[in-house]
Amino acid sequence: DAFYRELPKVELHAHLNGSISFATIEKLIARKPHLNIGHSMTAIQSGQRRTLEECFQVFKVIHQLVDSEEDILMVAKDVIKEFADDGVKYLELRSTPREEKNTGLTKKNYVETIIEAIHQCKKEGVDTEVRFLVAVDRRNGTEVAMETVKLAEEFMLSTSGLVVGLDLSGDPTVGHGKDLLPALEKAKHSGLKLALHMSEVPSQMEESDLLLNIPPHRIGHGTFLHPEMGGSQSLVDKVQKNNIPLELCLTSNVKGQTVPSYSQHHFPYWYQSGHPCVICTDDKGVFCTNLSLEYQRAASTFGLSHEAMWKLSQQAIDCSFAPDALKDQLKQRWTKLRPAVL
Ligand code: 5GP
Repeated sequence: DAFYRELPKVELHAHLNGSISFATIEKLIARKPHLNIGHSMTAIQSGQRRTLEECFQVFKVIHQLVDSEEDILMVAKDVIKEFADDGVKYLELRSTPREEKNTGLTKKNYVETIIEAIHQCKKEGVDTEVRFLVAVDRRNGTEVAMETVKLAEEFMLSTSGLVVGLDLSGDPTVGHGKDLLPALEKAKHSGLKLALHMSEVPSQMEESDLLLNIPPHRIGHGTFLHPEMGGSQSLVDKVQKNNIPLELCLTSNVKGQTVPSYSQHHFPYWYQSGHPCVICTDDKGVFCTNLSLEYQRAASTFGLSHEAMWKLSQQAIDCSFAPDALKDQLKQRWTKLRPAVL
């Protein structure tokens, strides 16, 4: 549907290494033929599903393919350009800084290289504003989380606003949020915005309660927060009282099997009460999707009009971590880019 491609869009939940397209994976495989990695190991095709655990194995394979500054620069530039081609006018990318002994990559280089990719895209005239969230992988525990927060704080200051926040992600069945709380609170205190994966699996109620007390600026997934999914009204109340937007990724949740089918996704639970919901891709490469397809999928599954989808894309601007001046600019752009069919 051409409407959704034309629609100006905001992407707020995109993991860099999960967002690598088929074409870029080809280039990476050509650089590292000795790894013997094939496409079936890096992407979940249409109609296929994996358990969440298997999804995390896929990221490990991709990380083998992306292990040098050169790789990261190429991957980040390609991903930014692909979002731009799909009509994304404002993109918040997130990625977990990694060090790689065999290529000499450090966590600092890792972030610097992504910032360089953002600058190069701007210079090349890519028509998308890009900001970056530094990601904490929950499996790595307290100390690494604290180091990552310090790195994010340094970059927030040195990049004059390109690094805007901190993400908490990684396998939800590993580690506990309580160990990461001091690092998350420190990050928030220093002015980083927090986008936290929360209640992706049913066993995380106590952790979500703890994280909601911070409170974060946005929630990733939040699949099991509400009572109908085994969550609780008190969790819902906390989310609503603080008006915390939810980043919702339909294809990812269905292919990763945390949600049994599109029609059973939690999008309408929140959307119907007027709660801010942002449609996102999560990992467009791994889950073989793009943001236009996600908008189209939400509209067709829940019977939403083009006008309703336009409003969703417009409201996403206010859920972003962009400063107010940029939000105002984006809103003006949206007025100019309003599809003619509306
Ligand atoms: P990267 O941070 O390396 O750019 O992107 C891949 C990483 O993002 C994964 O290793 C994982 O930590 C995180 N990630 C990607 N998709 C998901 C998801 O659906 N749920 C969670 N919890 N983490 C994810």
